[in-house]
Amino acid sequence: MKMADEADKYGRGYIKIDLDAVVENVNYLRTFVGSGTGIFGVVKADAYGHGSVGVARKLEPFGFMYGFAVATPEEAFELREGGITKPILVLGFSFPYAYEIMARQEIRSTVYSLDAAGALKEAACKAGRPLRVHIKVDTGMNRIGITPDEHGLSFVKALKEQEGILIEGIYTHFARADEMDKSNAEAQLVTFLNFIHMIKERLALEIPIIHCANSAGILEMPRAGMSAVRAGIAMYGITPSGEMGKAVLPLRPALSLYSHIVRIKMIEPGQSVSYGGIFTAEKRTRVATIPVGYGDGYPRSLSGRGYVLIHGKKAPILGRICMDQFMVDVSSIPEVTVGDRVVLIGSDGRESIDAYRLGELSGRFHYELLCGLGLRLPRIYTQNVTAESMK
Ligand SMILES: *Cc1c(COP(=O)(O)O)cnc(C)c1O
Repeated sequence: MKMADEADKYGRGYIKIDLDAVVENVNYLRTFVGSGTGIFGVVKADAYGHGSVGVARKLEPFGFMYGFAVATPEEAFELREGGITKPILVLGFSFPYAYEIMARQEIRSTVYSLDAAGALKEAACKAGRPLRVHIKVDTGMNRIGITPDEHGLSFVKALKEQEGILIEGIYTHFARADEMDKSNAEAQLVTFLNFIHMIKERLALEIPIIHCANSAGILEMPRAGMSAVRAGIAMYGITPSGEMGKAVLPLRPALSLYSHIVRIKMIEPGQSVSYGGIFTAEKRTRVATIPVGYGDGYPRSLSGRGYVLIHGKKAPILGRICMDQFMVDVSSIPEVTVGDRVVLIGSDGRESIDAYRLGELSGRFHYELLCGLGLRLPRIYTQNVTAESMK
């Protein structure tokens, strides 16, 4: 893992991931679920831009981590290559080409159609070991999953009879658990629990791992705990939505984005900055250039609207964000010089700007913004706390 003192080398732009914050956040989430509830760390989309292998390696040694969840088989393979041995669940549909490797690497597949079940069975035979699956139930998201009715029940029955397939889990996903009004999520929960009951009664089947809560569910729906939960955004210290109550307050963002000023210039009234001339100076303005742009995932929609932090003060963005650079106004921060550190996401003194705020300013969903942070920005991990030191 790269350490923070290598920052010089990454002066242009780098992302610092505070792994202790991730552990703290997960520990905080644990206070909302029973001690018997396992946690899936959701590390899809490269752990929401935080680096999936780095995050998963940090969390794996903790006993409360049941395993990890990703969106695609390739994301799961990457974790295995990175040395992760705990259970990994692929949340999306996995195409048949991946089944055999998934069986060999004990990667859990999400299933909801018998077509896939047939191919899964074949792959299990070839791999010489059973394939563990989690059944997805569609309780209202209308995305993927079996319907919680007689059709769904006959699917579960048929799957149960398939050789080579081990039904390890069953789960559903909330569409609106991050809203203040939980009635929609509650209705999904009831539908899900009724279906689990139906499976138990009618098929005499007890599925070991039952899960439904995402971050919002963990924080604000106590009944959604069950045998496991799937923690994503909150693990990274970010609120699922602006409608979430006090429960999200202790979360600490794990990701910061830094750069350094590469040029400073005084411009005269009437001069414009960047493409299109959308900003024209009305007075003498001191302009600093920052070598990060939308090519790094820093949204172009921040043009003329966002700000960065320099010496603990806000410096407003001037004109358009370019692919690799943008300019800010440092007129009111006279001590600024070339080479000074710039905080694009994170805190500096008493000021801070997190992914949620940046999402508001840029008109982008904060999850999307984090996922979009480019691979051109190296991830540098910092940590003090280890699983051993916490015992
Ligand atoms: C992404 C995802 C999660 C995690 O959601 P957060 O809001 O980030 O906690 C949980 N379950 C499923 C099925 C997902 O796709």
